Amino acid sequence: MNSYRYRLEAYRGMATLHECPRCGRRSFKRYVDVESGEALREDCGRCNHVNSCGYHLAPRDVGAVNESVALPARQMPQQERHSVIPEEMVKHSLRSDFARGMCRLMGEALTTEVLGRYRVGADRMGRVIWWQIDEQGETRTGKVMAYDPLTLKRRREMACGVDWAHSILIRIGQLPIKFVLKQCLFGAHLLARAVPTDVVCLVESEKTAVLCAAIWPRGTWLATGGITQLEGGRMEVLRGRRVLVFADSDAVEDWSLRLDAYRFTCSLRFSRAWPTIIAERPSRSKIDLADVVIEALSDTTGQKLAALSTITDEIDAFRLNRIY
Ligand SMILES: [Zn+2]
Repeated sequence: MNSYRYRLEAYRGMATLHECPRCGRRSFKRYVDVESGEALREDCGRCNHVNSCGYHLAPRDVGAVNESVALPARQMPQQERHSVIPEEMVKHSLRSDFARGMCRLMGEALTTEVLGRYRVGADRMGRVIWWQIDEQGETRTGKVMAYDPLTLKRRREMACGVDWAHSILIRIGQLPIKFVLKQCLFGAHLLARAVPTDVVCLVESEKTAVLCAAIWPRGTWLATGGITQLEGGRMEVLRGRRVLVFADSDAVEDWSLRLDAYRFTCSLRFSRAWPTIIAERPSRSKIDLADVVIEALSDTTGQKLAALSTITDEIDAFRLNRIY
């Protein structure tokens, strides 16, 4: 596996951030040599405040050649192959509370099509199973969650925490105890049929991904399953892709820091249409994209849905490689 010789240091908390030579804020990442682990010159790096500060001194600016090198062996531990949930245990079903709620919101035809595309399942208690199916079509696990069919919000009662399909199957003896779990992005299987110019829209929650997929089908919507899940091999499938990130309003900085490691491997943009939609709302309380979609679909005049067409425009612009 190859990498660039110098990379911005991976974000591992505040200790990896330094004082920016220009703006003085503690938002500066240094370039490090992937072979020796040593940082380059103190001022060689990038400020994370890309818009308000914009400081960036690249390795080439200090005379270092950022060539492609083979990663040293110690960075490539022998990877144990992931386990797979057998196909016959991975059932698609519309019998979850979530699917019922989605039907009420956007009708049966669209719900059936979208949830079928993502192969979403249900358990006997009506909880939804967000199967994680990789690009090869292999199912790594499934996240089992309970939703209120009326509001499509998570049910927060004690008994409704997140469960995992592989754990359940191990508990009932249908899978071996030694199951090597390697999660993948939710929706990753859809990349198998996406062409390189297709825009991958990255969101945090599975629910947001399927709701957005219904109203903005021109994007391939994938979910990380949580912002802390961005690390590891999971993002590898995005190599060479056009990735449009929809970060929650209070998490842009965090996403940006965590995604830094992938800026060289894929074409990454943060949505500009989405912060504009947030800014135009009267209330500044925390809102996520799923809430906005639900609200727009519940509006019988269709005006709210029409106001969201900027996201379609943004996806199309990226597909044509234009600036939005
Ligand atoms: Zn700065």
